Amino acid sequence: MSFVPPGSGWPGDPAGPGTPVARDAHEVAKLAAESRTLADLTAMQSVCRACPRLVEWREEVADVRRRAFADETYWGRPIAGWGDDAPHTLIVGLAPAAHGGNRTGRIFTGDRSGDWLFASLHRTGLALKETSVHAGDGQRLIGARMMAAVRCAPPANKPTPEERDTCFPWLAAELALVAGTTRVVVALGGFAWQAVWPALRAAGFTLPSRRPAFGHAVEVPLVHGAAPVTLIGCYHPSQQNTFTGRVTAEMLDAVFARAAALGATA
Ligand code: SF4
Repeated sequence: MSFVPPGSGWPGDPAGPGTPVARDAHEVAKLAAESRTLADLTAMQSVCRACPRLVEWREEVADVRRRAFADETYWGRPIAGWGDDAPHTLIVGLAPAAHGGNRTGRIFTGDRSGDWLFASLHRTGLALKETSVHAGDGQRLIGARMMAAVRCAPPANKPTPEERDTCFPWLAAELALVAGTTRVVVALGGFAWQAVWPALRAAGFTLPSRRPAFGHAVEVPLVHGAAPVTLIGCYHPSQQNTFTGRVTAEMLDAVFARAAALGATA
């Protein structure tokens, strides 16, 4: 089988054999709207099959594998939100990597971007360990939660607008379920910056009428209920960005130290 069967013992697998499976955009919207707990929502996210192109790609990658991981079993399923259930800081990315999250079953885990990200989160007190290698490695987020705007690894790291829209209800529902404690939202990269904006609105956050341009450390004040919330832009720690020095460890640390400080005052 080219994916891990739900409930078969994978560390942290939120789903079981009976978890409802969304098979099209309508079913994603329906199941996301019916989710009352993070446990239900993440279980259903992790078995979704609504985007035919992405399902085919994630399972083909899991079947063929990369030579360096030829002996490993790939997760081959969508990557559910992960982290603290009552977070002050949310970290929103674009989509999992084919041989990263799609292999390890956990967001930003097992790839070079994740190495940079988790090292920074550890230095700034938001992650227990400086590495994130595999689900079940003992890593834990502290006051933080991660999620992707599109939950399946896309070919060439590029989901289509239709795939982004189909996955939207999973993101909006997860944001709504953690909105009560959230004080900071960090968008990793321009795509996440764009994708999270309407999802925050759908989740009940009040946003400025115009969306500022994405930039590193750009901050936008939001409100949820009576609580202030800060949206922060952060360059994605992709290999292209880290190789070229467009983003450095110091730049990541500045954003996450800011997030941790804002979260600590919540
Ligand atoms: S990208 Fe989202 S909506 Fe599409 S199959 Fe994956 S989890 Fe489902």
